[in-house]
Amino acid sequence: MKRVLLLGALALSLCCGASRATLNVVACEPEWASLTQELGGDLVRVFSATTAMQDPHRIEARPSLIARVRNADLLVCTGLELEVGWLPVLLQQAGNARLAANAPGNFEAGRFVTPLELPSRLDRSEGDVHAQGNPHIQGDPRNIARVADALVQRLAQIDPINATAYRAKRDSFAQRWSAALQRWTTQTAPLKGVPVVVHHKNMSYLLNWLGMREVGTLEPKPGIEPSAGHLGTLSAQLQREPAKMVLRAAYQDAKASRWLAEHAALTAVVLPFTVGGNDKAVDLFGLFESSVELLLEAAK
Ligand SMILES: [Zn+2]
Repeated sequence: MKRVLLLGALALSLCCGASRATLNVVACEPEWASLTQELGGDLVRVFSATTAMQDPHRIEARPSLIARVRNADLLVCTGLELEVGWLPVLLQQAGNARLAANAPGNFEAGRFVTPLELPSRLDRSEGDVHAQGNPHIQGDPRNIARVADALVQRLAQIDPINATAYRAKRDSFAQRWSAALQRWTTQTAPLKGVPVVVHHKNMSYLLNWLGMREVGTLEPKPGIEPSAGHLGTLSAQLQREPAKMVLRAAYQDAKASRWLAEHAALTAVVLPFTVGGNDKAVDLFGLFESSVELLLEAAK
């Protein structure tokens, strides 16, 4: 009898204890995985669908990822069409009603920030143009703060028992974040107005925050790989109007920016772009510390 009771208790704890104690979260990108971890602590179990070494526009919906999504209580993605090439398929295959569009379990960070580069007309011949604006919102630390506020509300809605705990973690994060933001803003004053070339238009929010000037892109059109012809034109343009550096994200191929650095006398800089993009970018704080440091070094 005792043994049966024991087994019963064990089964109960296996069945419901774990699922009640932790919220299963799948984030589409590492920055949102990191933010959810900051706000959820040990109340959440977070998995990121992509790494800093992957292009978030295109990944494969592999079976292990489908299984994660099937069991998730909350999906935290950028939206703004960033994941349009893979997330709809993934959601369809996972068949998890909690994550349906407009369900509380489907959180889109892009809804809580002001998008840059909203196209005045939608012309797919112009490349990978996003109808809702540029989706690479994590480049601006002020956007991280806005998304944190919205995300904590969503966590509290899905897991109301722990609402107070989520809010306390958010308060702690917000305090540390605003102190760091103040420091970064002061440190980066010398970057204002510095002209740069970018590989893809994924640095716009970062450059906008820092007041840096984008004067060219290695891609001839968004999402179209750099070509010799385009790089030649860009190099000639830079003879007339020089830039200080060429920026690419950790996941992007080095070839084109190395070529340009050599031919147009500028510094090639690899930014972590998201959490995990280099050794220092272990969390969101490290991501911005490292980005600021790399940019200041290249601007010297
Ligand atoms: Zn993009």
